Amino acid sequence: MASSERLKFAHRCIQDGTVDSICPRCFVTIASVANEADLVFKEGHHVCDPFVLAHYEFFKKMPHSETVPSRSAVTQRDAE
Ligand SMILES: [Zn+2]
Repeated sequence: MASSERLKFAHRCIQDGTVDSICPRCFVTIASVANEADLVFKEGHHVCDPFVLAHYEFFKKMPHSETVPSRSAVTQRDAE
């Protein structure tokens, strides 16, 4: 049983008629097919790359909101 069984994959229609399936956890395009029904098998067997997941977890833990100055702080500095 694949760990991605309960994930809802995003489908993107391409102008050439193919459909991409994108994993909502690792954001990888797991398949590009001409028949959307073919995605069921591929999505059912997709397993996220642990390295890619660790990469996103690393950035989620970064305190970016605390390091970015607020708009008012920037405005006050520019006025001086
Ligand atoms: Zn994935």
